[in-house]
Amino acid sequence: MKNIIGAITCTLVSYAIAIFGYMLTHGCKLNDLQNIPEDDKRFLLVLLVAQTIIVWAYFFYILAIRKKNAKRIKSDENRLILQQRRYQIVIDNSGEMMYEISLNNDACISTEKIREKFGWDIPKQVDKLDVRKLFEILHVHPEDEELFYHSTSGLITNKMTKEITVRMQKSDGEYIWCNIIYIPLLDGDNNMVSIVGKIEDVDSEVKEKERLEYQSRTDGLTGLMNKQTFEEEAMKFLMSSISTGSALLFIDMDYFKDVNDKFGHSMGDRAIRDTALKLQIIFANCDMVSRFGGDEFMIFVKNIPRDTLLDKLAWATEKLKETYSNGVDVVNLSASIGVAYCMADKISYSTLFEAADNSLYAAKELGRSRYIIRDVYN
Ligand code: GH3
Ligand code: MG
Repeated sequence: MKNIIGAITCTLVSYAIAIFGYMLTHGCKLNDLQNIPEDDKRFLLVLLVAQTIIVWAYFFYILAIRKKNAKRIKSDENRLILQQRRYQIVIDNSGEMMYEISLNNDACISTEKIREKFGWDIPKQVDKLDVRKLFEILHVHPEDEELFYHSTSGLITNKMTKEITVRMQKSDGEYIWCNIIYIPLLDGDNNMVSIVGKIEDVDSEVKEKERLEYQSRTDGLTGLMNKQTFEEEAMKFLMSSISTGSALLFIDMDYFKDVNDKFGHSMGDRAIRDTALKLQIIFANCDMVSRFGGDEFMIFVKNIPRDTLLDKLAWATEKLKETYSNGVDVVNLSASIGVAYCMADKISYSTLFEAADNSLYAAKELGRSRYIIRDVYN
């Protein structure tokens, strides 16, 4: 309608210009137009008809172009909608937790799967997205904050794809380990318009890995560090820290076989667990307590004054005395302790071990239930 009014207006204006032009060139007024020569009348008529044809031809041409453009836009829109729907069907049926956070307008990916898993939504649009905001949006565990910041910073500043495994909180408060992938979506001018990504629940895999790792580092019966882990940790400490004033303790139960023989293997196991508990109490804090195997325990005490160590050793020798009885037989269990005390820095683990082993042998030889300490200088 607007276009038709425009075309009519154009036609009328062109008439007015033609008539006004005639009046100006022939020096006549509006009233004189009735009396102009027949030739001029015919000329004016032809001119007006020609103008009408030109204006309306142009009008229909514009109309046709507009119609064609509208059709093309509509078909582009349809194609886009179809593409989005196809995309969504693929995502919904893949079972993946996909998301998109747009930096300027609404993102198109539906995050239904994320809501189902976590009970909260990822916003589809955020004006000023930074790492802190992303940390909040994804409900990451506070303990994983540093790792998250470190691994995610390049995403926004350098527009790089990132992947990280952190704990994310569900709406019921539970945290689960998740693998988060973020991919910056860039437009033709290389400006980031969205972050597209995927969240994977890897909780059971991570926990199983942790369990296996823990299992490989600990002794199954007592839960203490095992021999291999103890040796690795002690060597690490000796190589990287000032070790003067540290001590390696080698403990072996006395007449332990009697417990097994008289009361059975399970009572023997209990005695080993009791001993482990007592050692953990005596050597709490930062000391490393391990079960070396059988009835042997190894302890590394970091930076302890010699007098304090002697007090602890006396306490340990007393505390490890235990009487086991079934009403008929009695076994008095005790422990012998061989100690290597570092009087200098940079002493190797094997040197300390040898000294502690020799001390233990000496303690056994001297009648058991005692400690022998050797100062090691290099
Ligand atoms: P000693 O005073 O000279 O140390 O003699 P002992 O009787 O304590 O014997 P020894 O230290 O030479 O041997 C430790 C024994 O501990 C050998 C083995 O039968 C027993 N043993 C080893 N591992 C376990 C275990 O996991 N559970 C139980 N119940 N016994 C074990
Ligand atoms: Mg023994």
